[in-house]
Amino acid sequence: MTDHAATVPAALLESVVRGWRDLSTRLVQLGRDRPEGDGGVFVNPPITRGSTVLFASLEAMDAAGHRRYDDEQLIYGAMGTPVQHLLEQVIAAIEGGAHAQIVPSGLAACALPLLACLAAGDHCLLSDTVYGPTRRFAEKVLRRFGVEITYFPPLASESELLALARPTTRVIYAESPGSHSFEVQDLRMLGRVARQLDARLIVDNTWGIGLIDPFALGAHISVQALTKYPAGHSDTIIGAVTVASDADWRLLRDTAIQSGQTAGPDDCWLTLRGLRTMGVRQERQAATAIAVALWLQSRPEVARVLHPALPSCPGHENWKRDFTGASSLFGVVFDPAFTGADLMAMIDSLTLFGIGASWGGYESLVLPTTGGISRTCQSVTQDGPACRFHIGLEAGELLIADLARGLDGMSATRRARAGA
Ligand SMILES: *Cc1c(COP(=O)(O)O)cnc(C)c1O
Repeated sequence: MTDHAATVPAALLESVVRGWRDLSTRLVQLGRDRPEGDGGVFVNPPITRGSTVLFASLEAMDAAGHRRYDDEQLIYGAMGTPVQHLLEQVIAAIEGGAHAQIVPSGLAACALPLLACLAAGDHCLLSDTVYGPTRRFAEKVLRRFGVEITYFPPLASESELLALARPTTRVIYAESPGSHSFEVQDLRMLGRVARQLDARLIVDNTWGIGLIDPFALGAHISVQALTKYPAGHSDTIIGAVTVASDADWRLLRDTAIQSGQTAGPDDCWLTLRGLRTMGVRQERQAATAIAVALWLQSRPEVARVLHPALPSCPGHENWKRDFTGASSLFGVVFDPAFTGADLMAMIDSLTLFGIGASWGGYESLVLPTTGGISRTCQSVTQDGPACRFHIGLEAGELLIADLARGLDGMSATRRARAGA
């Protein structure tokens, strides 16, 4: 069997793994106690489970409440436990922000800054390619509270964006690369436009964790589904919102407390543990993913591979400019001569790719991305049957052999149909 990672051009391979390798040392070091004096410390933090926090006096309790913006202050279990605060510090450091708030899911992380930054009568520019449930939150909840929403094409130019803006625009919400269609957005330009409008740029940076500094690029707030690569084992649902400024921190922290956003200490602990190995997992998964993507690109069934590190991906030049590596999640658009049913049968025939929601664990997954996806603007995933692959820690040559069997079968079905 050939080692397919070895067939990836060296410069391309380096461009997808460099950021993960660079991150590894920090992931080992961040957020850990060091031994002092004669005492010893465990490598990992303890888990404290708790609701009530006791104080020596009413005055001390009152003072603690006023220190709710301090990163380590204990007030009440719903406002964070020690391991939650530790995870918050680690995420803030990885994202390059000043403070982070841990929330119980990635979707809660998407919703919290929208709730914090928008009021009735405000206008929100939402990227057309955001995660589906974020779009539904905007449609079903924000609109009900009088917020106006306009969807913008993910690769809209500065003038196109300004033409969609209103005097009431308070938020530009981006997700890069886009959900399912993988457009890499120009965050620098979006940040400039947001400042011009006196609005905030919120970025869902789940795909790019550790590979970009969203704040240096112009974001005010960065959102993470920690459920994905940080937790990394398909066993935890958790999210984070990171901010750069103290004013945004006060707003976000207060909204989190007012809406009861917190996460259980066990989930925080599992996520901290997952983060320790995220660099090495991703170095391997990103290398296998680019090998699989290149192999798919060489197949006659495939029209277009939507992997941000390849020129065939919309917005590739933004990836090249801004990212220090790539994740192991990418899309494929098939030749329109194949039907959606051909693609479904091919997916069902795969043995090493799980069929299921989410991604970021150690196992490979596949999902169709045609049908059932709301878009206002034209999307590349509408050019032919399309699917999304998440590449895990399996051997690349076995994944490729599985896909080869699946695609051979798909072509045979089509030939039989054409001949019939
Ligand atoms: C998965 C995901 C979310 C939601 O995360 P959950 O923890 O599943 O709620 C949000 N944004 C992106 C980009 C995601 O991939």
